[in-house]
Amino acid sequence: MNVHEELLVGGEWRKPTSEARIDVVSPSTEEVIGQVPDAGTEDVDMAVRAARSAFDQGVWRAMSVTERADVLEQALRLLGSRIDEIARLVTSEMGLPTSIAGVQIPGALDTGRYFLHVAQGDPVSELRQTQMCTAAVVKEPVGVVASIAPWNGPFNLAISKIIPALVTGCSVVYKPAPETPLDAFFIAEALSKAGVPAGVFNLITGGRQTGATLVAHPGIDKVSFTGSTAAGRDIGRQCGGNFKRLQLELGGKSAAIVLDDADIATTMTGLAMGCFFNTGQVCAAFSRVLLPASRYDEFTAALVATAESFVVGDPFDPATTMGPLVSARQRNRVQSYLDAGRDEGAVIATGGGTPPGLEKGFYIQPTVFTGVDNSMRIAREEIFGPVASVLRYDSLDEAIAIANDSDYGLHGGVFTADPQRAAEVARRVRTGTFSVNAFVYNSEAPFGGVKNSGIGRDTGPEAVQAYYELKTINLDAPTAALFS
Ligand code: NAD
Repeated sequence: MNVHEELLVGGEWRKPTSEARIDVVSPSTEEVIGQVPDAGTEDVDMAVRAARSAFDQGVWRAMSVTERADVLEQALRLLGSRIDEIARLVTSEMGLPTSIAGVQIPGALDTGRYFLHVAQGDPVSELRQTQMCTAAVVKEPVGVVASIAPWNGPFNLAISKIIPALVTGCSVVYKPAPETPLDAFFIAEALSKAGVPAGVFNLITGGRQTGATLVAHPGIDKVSFTGSTAAGRDIGRQCGGNFKRLQLELGGKSAAIVLDDADIATTMTGLAMGCFFNTGQVCAAFSRVLLPASRYDEFTAALVATAESFVVGDPFDPATTMGPLVSARQRNRVQSYLDAGRDEGAVIATGGGTPPGLEKGFYIQPTVFTGVDNSMRIAREEIFGPVASVLRYDSLDEAIAIANDSDYGLHGGVFTADPQRAAEVARRVRTGTFSVNAFVYNSEAPFGGVKNSGIGRDTGPEAVQAYYELKTINLDAPTAALFS
């Protein structure tokens, strides 16, 4: 059992004032594997005050970017020495197959190093000659950041949120998802050991209420949130009222458009990842697959075979390629969409239930729905499970219209042998990211959405910029000499 009695607040591990606790349940065994505090209002207040005071005292932000990067590099090194432990924990708390966790954890640390590299290569002060005077445009940390994460990539999302905020000089109060809070304790420990000053990084655990209290706290300057569109909407409303800076990475309903000249093997490799990776619990997932009428039967049969090729089961078994869903709640939610699809007249071509022999654990078979119309709930709402909805189209214009007929705009894809058509489709589909002949999550380029998929960009150099405010200092000639 991983029992954590304390939260990291102001550089100390402190017992929370709230007596409430959250049980962490293994999605593969349904057993309780850990417990963390369910932080209450006072705990949130203490964490934000600690972050505020650290920021206002300015020890961390007065350091150069390189000095901060050195400390954070050391934290990443410490985490690097515990990769196996962290990977096991992520497999236990969210059911990510061990074969994938073993790659994802070091990958997340590389992404952290990438952010440090980007920040160090980015000048934080620039002199501009204007008609009025010489102006220095300087980048200053945005302040105290409330960083809130979901459960579907606990360690990698934490690194992508925390490192860019810290390297720019911000203070952070980090709240992981209540389903997967355990690995965040490794991160907090590593940051403390590496020498991040007291109060600059604070860890609180809790659920929706803890998150909402954190967002509403007047000591917060910016909210960086990854999670559902419904929660993002509440947070946006809350932040709008007092102009808190806001970064929202929300849900998606991304369409993969398969053109009539697409190579079947390339397409199936992309759809295997796009539809089913992480048991479909991916915001950018290709949850709508648009197939040309001329090759509909052929591609449908191949997609069904692809779904059936997954080995669903115990995430600790190295042969497993698909683990369970994260929680009973998520399994029930996916199940309700399987029912909704059937009720609306779609056809289950494969899957649609619990895999035989896997009644314990929150397992669902990889599922392909055919005969889907874009007005059905399974084509409009985010399912967040291993469920692909197949839609048929007759012309390229129709395919693009279907792809764009969505409240979401996170990701999309095209599969074709024709680069001209690939480029055309990539430009015409309205999303924040797009992949050609593959399913790609690229942490060195901006990632984020349009429409209900969010505001702002995580990853890429833009992730670092997002934690700066620009300040213009209009200089007289003697002072200008001090800026370069
Ligand atoms: P969720 O919105 O229920 O919870 C996400 C986090 O926010 C959790 O830590 C939760 O405790 C907290 N929270 C919930 N309501 C809140 C509120 N009103 N105020 C403050 N905090 C609140 O989402 P989830 O079920 O944990 O995660 C799945 C969702 O995350 C999916 O919709 C998925 O698309 C989205 N997601 C998006 C991206 C992206 O980059 N766009 C990446 C991963 C996941």
